[in-house]
This record gives sequence, C-alpha cells and structure tokens, in this order.
Amino acid sequence: MNYYPKPLGKLVSELSKLPGIGSKSAQRIAFDLLDWSREDVMELAKSLVNAKDKIHYCKKCYHIAEEELCEICQDSGRDPSVICVVEDPRDLIAMERSGSYHGLYHVLHGTISPMDGRGPDEIRLKELLERLKTEEVKEVILATGSDMEGETTALYIARLLKPILKVSRIAAGIPVGGDLEYADEITLMRAMEGRQEL
Ligand code: ZN
Repeated sequence: MNYYPKPLGKLVSELSKLPGIGSKSAQRIAFDLLDWSREDVMELAKSLVNAKDKIHYCKKCYHIAEEELCEICQDSGRDPSVICVVEDPRDLIAMERSGSYHGLYHVLHGTISPMDGRGPDEIRLKELLERLKTEEVKEVILATGSDMEGETTALYIARLLKPILKVSRIAAGIPVGGDLEYADEITLMRAMEGRQEL
C-alpha cells in the first residue's frame, strides 16, 4: 500500500538514504519541506547540486577544495615543513578548529584494516610518499584515530617514514576508540602539543 502520493514517497525514500536518517525522520523532513516556500526549496536543491559539482579533492593534500588546491595549501602563512596526516576531511576541520596547528595536511580518506580487507593501496598513502619526494618536509605528524584501524594505519606509515624523516604521533587524550571529529578543541590542542616522536 502506498501511504503517500508518488512525489512525496520518492522524496521520503531519497531522504532516508542520508546518514542517520531513518524512515520516520525522512517523513518528518519531507512534510516539513512541503511547508517551505518554493524559493527556499530551490535554494536547498541548488546548494546540493552546486556542492556536488564544485567540490572536489585538493590535488596536493586531498582535503575538499573548490579550486585545484584547497585554501590551506594555498595559504603561504602555513608551515610547509610539517604535514599532519588525518583519516578524513572532517578530522582536518576538527584540527583546524582547535587552532593548535599551522602546518599542512594530508588526508588519507580511510584507514588500513587488514581485518576488513583494506590495505595501504586503498588510502592516499602513495600520494603522501610522492609529496615527500618533492616537498621539503621535516616532520610528519600522524593524527589518525585512536581506534584499532587508526593505530594500525599510524604504525604502518611510521615504519615506512621513520628512516626518512621525523615522525610523531599525537598524544593520548583523544579517547581510546575515539574519532578526531568528535574530540573537543582543547583535547585536540593538547594532543597536538603533547605529540611524541616515534
Ligand atoms: Zn590541500
């Protein structure tokens, strides 16, 4: 049985694909949208397509960017001799919010997890190694999460890089099993300041 007229059913089913949105929330949002003005709905629709069309990954660090290079890579005020390696653009944003770091980044877009069949080729590690060949980097800070995958990834990268340059790991303080994204700014600041050389 169809509970909704077709266009509304389609909207509910599309909305329920969003992370954290179950069918009940999708229904609530869909009904709310019906009460919006046509202009506001158009703004939302346009911003979805626009973000999808305009946002891609920075050619250098793989953070999200509107141009070829992200704003951080373009910023001449940043220290190019330090690269902080994170799992995900959201972790980078969390680190930026903490205001405790002024170097460059490298976003891996994932973790190494042999248990889940994810090897080093499935993250942007080759790209990091390429960068180290051409950029004058003195230190790589591993800021992957403190869960098993984050630790495995940090360990793997540390083994690769230690013979070449200084490698450090952000300090504990990030709750074990925790995602950088959810750590508060002071915790992140302390984690960065208390990093230890590997
Ligand atoms: Zn970048």
